[in-house]
Amino acid sequence: MKVIVVGSSHGGFEAVQELLQDYPDAEIQWYEKGDFISFLSCGMQLYLEGVVKDVNTVRYATKEGMEKKGVHVFVQQDVTAIDPAQHQVTVHNLVDDSTRTETYDKLIISTGAVPIELNVAGKDLDNIYFMRGRDWAMKLKRASVEPLIKNVVVVGSGYIGIEAAEAFAKAGKKVTVIDVLPRILGTYLDSEFTDVLADELENNNVTLALGERVQKFVGENGKVTQVETDKNTYAADLVIEAVGVKPNTEWLADTLQLNPDKTIKTDEYQQTSQPDIFAVGDATLVKFAPTGKTAKIALATNSRRQGRYAVKNLNKATQPTPAVSGSSALSVFSYHFASTGIKDATAENYQTKVASVYLEDTYRPAFVPAEQNAKVQFKLTYAPEDGRILGAQIMSTADVTADINTISLAIQQHLTVNDLAYADFFFQPGYDRPWNVINVAAQKAQRQLL
Ligand code: FAD
Repeated sequence: MKVIVVGSSHGGFEAVQELLQDYPDAEIQWYEKGDFISFLSCGMQLYLEGVVKDVNTVRYATKEGMEKKGVHVFVQQDVTAIDPAQHQVTVHNLVDDSTRTETYDKLIISTGAVPIELNVAGKDLDNIYFMRGRDWAMKLKRASVEPLIKNVVVVGSGYIGIEAAEAFAKAGKKVTVIDVLPRILGTYLDSEFTDVLADELENNNVTLALGERVQKFVGENGKVTQVETDKNTYAADLVIEAVGVKPNTEWLADTLQLNPDKTIKTDEYQQTSQPDIFAVGDATLVKFAPTGKTAKIALATNSRRQGRYAVKNLNKATQPTPAVSGSSALSVFSYHFASTGIKDATAENYQTKVASVYLEDTYRPAFVPAEQNAKVQFKLTYAPEDGRILGAQIMSTADVTADINTISLAIQQHLTVNDLAYADFFFQPGYDRPWNVINVAAQKAQRQLL
């Protein structure tokens, strides 16, 4: 069997790994249009902040390593078209500009997504950057140590924008974050959490310009110098746009059925509308466990899981990809937060009725001295009709983020507040309290449900 995998990031890598395991005799061809395989954008902030020194280490695999395992790796080779009837792809070699065709028995597409560019005046000026992939990582790193770059404007306050803001503030730049929404991280956290994080950012020299819409980039000598919004003008030697991503699927529009948002339509086995063609990762949708419906949740975790499941279902559609809760975590200066599922702020988007309980506590018993006993904020969201767990958010200066994985599992397994209220979680004063915050919140939710 000959399998072609297109795209060398999270989804593509996991598909290749599963192929090596499940089909050791398969001929695997792995295509990447960039000159580097398997770069992890997730590691970009660590690189920008100097924790990771070498950009070339921010990866899962090397070409040489994968070739030793028998994979045929092709870099700077852009797969530009598919002929499903002939089971054939067209490959454009970007080095010598030649074009050839390759046949496949099975094809797995993980071409991901690309950053959305704001369509405003001045968008083509120099020093307007994006935060995705190795090339931008290297450009951003150079900008972070360039003394002439003093004012950095980040457009977008999702997790990528906030990672960029923190990295450049730590590099000594004057950072302004602009967002059209009134709160930062609005799809990840409710206001009890974002109010604290907004103060944390302001206290670390990040100015927030929320509820403002970027209207124009202004420049001098071809370089950006200012960002104009509907309310203000901000000095900018560098702009980082982080306003979301769009699926990298334009080249597939005539070949595969796409969803209205241009992601590739797949079934729960990752099969596309054409036989023997599978798609995974940010170019597709996932099944969202709290609603049971599809949703666009661009995360490495989802891409990786889908990459594995595409291969599990390669010859027979037997194992549906598990639904996900959309769990993610991030640190913002001294705070660590994680969230999963539906929040009060996102309930309307999912057309779901939610109830929630919010609590603040210390994460260890009261007798533990304050300097070793941080405050924890926790919010549990559930269905008001039956107590089914729908989501949660946690934040502290201590790292208690892993609690969110428990909630993610509870959502996937359709557990209710009754299941969590007295669930058996460990107690040890070095780590938590006799009742874990999850128990406490679920007990409170039980009383609300009475
Ligand atoms: P992509 O990562 O988009 O990669 C697609 C690859 O395919 C690219 O290498 C591209 O060059 C190649 N390609 C595209 N078209 C072709 C073609 N026609 N021919 C050949 N090659 C092609 N997720 C998390 O879960 N946790 C995190 O902490 C996290 N942090 C992030 C931080 C940042 C700054 C960013 C930008 C993203 C982060 N993500 C995180 C999201 C995560 O990186 C994405 O969900 C994930 O990379 C998606 O993987 P993918 O395989 O779908 O595609």
